[in-house]
Amino acid sequence: MHLSAEKTRLNTILSIILSVLIFLIFVLFIWKVQHTNKTTFYILVAIGALAAYSCYGIFTKKFADRKKLEKTPFPEKWRAILEQDVHYYRQLSKERKALFETELQIFLHETRVTGIKCEVDDRTLVLAACAAEIPVFSFPEWEYDNLGEILIYPNAFTKDFRLEGEGRNVWGMVGTGFMEGLMILAKPALISGFQNPHDKMNVGIHEFAHLLDAADGHYDGVPKAFLPNQYLGAWAEVMKYEIGRIKGGKSKMNAYGGTSDVEFFAVATEYFFENPAALKQEKPELYKLLQKIYQQDTADKFKTALKALVNYTGKKLGRNSACPCQSGKKYKDCCLNNSRTYASEM
Ligand SMILES: [Zn+2]
Ligand SMILES: [Zn+2]
Repeated sequence: MHLSAEKTRLNTILSIILSVLIFLIFVLFIWKVQHTNKTTFYILVAIGALAAYSCYGIFTKKFADRKKLEKTPFPEKWRAILEQDVHYYRQLSKERKALFETELQIFLHETRVTGIKCEVDDRTLVLAACAAEIPVFSFPEWEYDNLGEILIYPNAFTKDFRLEGEGRNVWGMVGTGFMEGLMILAKPALISGFQNPHDKMNVGIHEFAHLLDAADGHYDGVPKAFLPNQYLGAWAEVMKYEIGRIKGGKSKMNAYGGTSDVEFFAVATEYFFENPAALKQEKPELYKLLQKIYQQDTADKFKTALKALVNYTGKKLGRNSACPCQSGKKYKDCCLNNSRTYASEM
């Protein structure tokens, strides 16, 4: 979640300290001038104060923007999409709905969504943001620190993100190599993931669950950044037991969850957000642990506040890198033109 009073306060305090420091260093630097020319000295001090003030503006920009977005009305056509397609949204209270909408606005303000050889329509844009926001909606301090861009592919792709050739069976993936830090989702899978809330499958949520798993530095199916230490043993046990059941054909979970610990965590997360009632009834132990994971709040406030000072909004594909659609053109001359952010809507 992006809105946190505590995070904003920490950012303001750090910004004030830094700006004052910049001003003091500047005054120290020009200190000698006052002995030769008093007027010049005062003019320089005024310039320094102005510079320090604009630095303060830069340091606090990210959070100031968020405050503004909080007061910006949510687009009606997007609300219609939420009401129609997003079961999770429908069951929220009125207040929580408003908060969820603001979260989407901020996410889309700070994250670029780009269609690779396809258009990013409103539905795609809103659902991509939902996939990111749903798993972290209960964490006031959570930030997708490194994620700056979501690439939307028109169809399934290969493990190395190609849209042509053999092995096009991937519907969603967290980027690696030159795509590191990017999220790649196939449009039809993203949309159909939200179509049936009770099928326990949602490729968007699945992929964002992988990012949460990796928040502790490891893709291992153990989300240490979210699960308190005392539950790690229980998680390992439940995971082993449930994977065993999937392999033995005794589980109602998606069989893909049995392929590895990493996939088990992502598949269990989809289930948890798509049909919590069924999961609670069928696998109370697993449900309880996922509840611990998805309500635990541990993200590092200080790190977030520091990154906010430089207006950091995560990694995006460079304007001059080769376009992922393999046209051979530079990104800026090709699919980057299909980019959407919230800023371009206002
Ligand atoms: Zn996966
Ligand atoms: Zn392209």
